[in-house]
Amino acid sequence: AGNVLVVGAGGVSSVAVHKMAMNPEIFGTITLASRTKSKCDDIAASVKQRTGVEVATRGLDAMDVAATVALIRETGAELVVNLALPYQDLKLMDACLEAGVHYLDTANYEPEDEAKFEYHWQWAYQDRFKAAGLTAILGSGFDPGVTSVFATWLRKHKLEGIRRLDVLDCNGGDNGKPFATNFNPEINIREVTADAKHWENGDWVVTPAMSHKVSFDFPGVGPKNMYLMYHEELESLSTHFPEIERARFWMTFGDAYINHVTVLQNVGMTSITPVVHDGVEIIPLQFLKTVLPDPGDLGALTKGKTCIGDIATGPAKDGSGEKTYYIYNICDHEACYAEVGSQAVAYTTGVPAMIGAAMLLGGHWSAPGVWNMEQLDPDPFMDMLNTQGLPWEVHELDAPVSF
Ligand code: NDP
Repeated sequence: AGNVLVVGAGGVSSVAVHKMAMNPEIFGTITLASRTKSKCDDIAASVKQRTGVEVATRGLDAMDVAATVALIRETGAELVVNLALPYQDLKLMDACLEAGVHYLDTANYEPEDEAKFEYHWQWAYQDRFKAAGLTAILGSGFDPGVTSVFATWLRKHKLEGIRRLDVLDCNGGDNGKPFATNFNPEINIREVTADAKHWENGDWVVTPAMSHKVSFDFPGVGPKNMYLMYHEELESLSTHFPEIERARFWMTFGDAYINHVTVLQNVGMTSITPVVHDGVEIIPLQFLKTVLPDPGDLGALTKGKTCIGDIATGPAKDGSGEKTYYIYNICDHEACYAEVGSQAVAYTTGVPAMIGAAMLLGGHWSAPGVWNMEQLDPDPFMDMLNTQGLPWEVHELDAPVSF
């Protein structure tokens, strides 16, 4: 078993740490470190109660590279699992290089003052990780993460190549609140208020946020409105699968959610440009996060299911012409809460983070360098999804998508 240092103690981290503790043959000593140590202690107490496993806890500001390096050395971790915020990615990659350990995260780096969702900052670490003989795995959540592995699995086993790809992310859950986000509100609102962007015929097509709506009948959930959005895996998938002619990302939102975001945007509350209020500089979006419900508190209230997956069209491997497959997971909010005390959005991100870490510690994904999930062998990861709570299904569709 390998020792790990998990950084960040939010919703995703809580799930990942519970699931690591449930796999003691893979994970040795687990140390959980975050800015607010009491949140680590709360997670450790729940893990102890549910699994009997002791998790060590520490306070850490991940922007302090020297402090992170010292903690990595003290814990003997082989791997840092970054479940803090996208702003910490580069500092944690720096710390891993300095301490000589592997790295894994679930979201690409972003500077705090720009919402760009681009990989170039992290891809620039490729040579340094290779030279050090270390592995960095980027985006081991659900999307990016599982949806990238789904595409790779289809390309390995069913299709010669992917010509058209649609990633469909449906949350059919209801938490009873007029407005609450399912994960970190600041990151969520940065994503949904950004321009929509999809890849088509070798270029990006940009459209206004939330302007393209389609109703889709999701397995296990039923019909929902989904909106075209930009999501970071579109950049890496269109780079690594150069045959892709069109790649799009869709996410479901209810009318009430859209109305709230529209009003908040119109009044300036989603802005990331600092303003001075009563002599204090604040960032409106960060203040909004402070007043919104903490997604971690919604677990007990959330009912319903998520259904996230890919529809891919391309030439069949067996030469039988063009084929379309839909591959997805359905996850139940209440079942997740019963198992690890979190709702399905945190669960569907935290479990793949644990599996990605298991791939690295188990030597399945060990090539030195910086990798997106679709560059790695999908098979052992797909097997573990089935045994670790995120079973998947694949079905052939009669025709490509018509929307
Ligand atoms: P939360 O906001 O719940 O948790 C983030 C944690 O990081 C908090 O405990 C926070 O500490 C800690 N943190 C923030 N800054 C620092 C710092 N400088 N040093 C140490 N710790 C810090 O976020 P989520 O759990 O919802 O999300 C975690 C990550 O997962 C995010 O990057 C998010 O973008 C990503 N994600 C990825 C998905 C995917 O499918 N790929 C889906 C959903 C999320 P404090 O408590 O003190 O604020």
